[in-house]
Amino acid sequence: MSIEIDRVNKRFNDFVAVDDVSLSLKDGELTALLGPSGSGKTTLLRIIAGLEQPDSGRIRFQGEDTTDMHVSDRGVGFVFQHYALFKHMNVFENVAYGLTVKPRSQRPSKEEIRRKVMHLLEMVQLDWTADRLPSQLSGGQRQRIALARALAVEPRVLLLDEPFGALDAKVRAELRRWLRRLHDDIHVTSVFVTHDQEEALEVSDRVVVMNHGRVEQDGHPETVYDHPANEFVYQFLGNVNLFHARVNDGVARIGSVKLSAPEFDGHLDSQAFAYVRPHDIEVLPHRTEESLHAEIELVSVVGPTVRLELKTDNSEQVVHAEMPKHQFKSLGLTQGGDAWIRPVNSRVFLRDEDIKRPD
Ligand code: ATP
Repeated sequence: MSIEIDRVNKRFNDFVAVDDVSLSLKDGELTALLGPSGSGKTTLLRIIAGLEQPDSGRIRFQGEDTTDMHVSDRGVGFVFQHYALFKHMNVFENVAYGLTVKPRSQRPSKEEIRRKVMHLLEMVQLDWTADRLPSQLSGGQRQRIALARALAVEPRVLLLDEPFGALDAKVRAELRRWLRRLHDDIHVTSVFVTHDQEEALEVSDRVVVMNHGRVEQDGHPETVYDHPANEFVYQFLGNVNLFHARVNDGVARIGSVKLSAPEFDGHLDSQAFAYVRPHDIEVLPHRTEESLHAEIELVSVVGPTVRLELKTDNSEQVVHAEMPKHQFKSLGLTQGGDAWIRPVNSRVFLRDEDIKRPD
């Protein structure tokens, strides 16, 4: 079931929550709506669901206009952050609920319901919990049951709002891999809201980055990460260092360091910002021709990775770098010691009044 969002707008009094958003989501795709708090993700999801009416614009499912259709007629399944399981019903009854309340003419037989519910419980690997009450399950297990329940009525579209938001980091990471595998099996068109970049990049087929109610970028996770459309997306997707630079005919300079910026061939003496990810900062214990001197202020070891905070001469700016632990050891770098740094990969944006930067 494809979803077309066509020039959708939504205001709450004077506040613009969704600002002229158009997207075409393909049949069977798992799309992440990613953005900071208040960027309009949930409002857009609720408009797709029919829980909120847009002020203008249309929603179409597989070409059919659903904008004015009641939520119960759209065939959408929901999973919310806070497990909305019925406390007094056991797991089996929770998953079966949507089927048992169907009008008599559409309701499957008891035996069919049993078969279907047990199949779904096997799919989410929780068939052994059928007789338990929700209070006897962990948070992660409850979310898997919530998902089985949403799938029981065979929705045309599955909508998930921060489904793993209330879980701890480890369970969250496990569940998102599990969701990815499940989606590979069932291929129901799904849209999920998250403010967690890693979750969006790891799980989805497609990432829509939102900010202030608008779409900043829409694309394959790798494209969005490797080729951010603008400074907002670059900063929002992962840690980044920001350097002031000067661009001259396709070359950006940060002090004595020259960076290639072929997109600015022909630009003369323009002010710019160079964005560099921490793993793209080379840190050496000796001077090289094109490097900046810095002092290593802090070394922290996080599993196999070493994170460094460095301060360059003439700048109050802290530069973040990271490298594998074995490399750090072989270079002989130490906290409080000298280092020479050089960005090896960067993305340059011209300094311009109109450029949007994260708040
Ligand atoms: P979060 O990650 O914090 O949930 P979000 O990106 O999902 O954020 P929305 O929940 O869509 O953002 O909210 C967008 C903006 O619209 C927010 O500033 C919010 O306060 C406002 N908003 C949402 N619903 C309403 C409402 N019913 N009445 C008034 N303002 C609302």
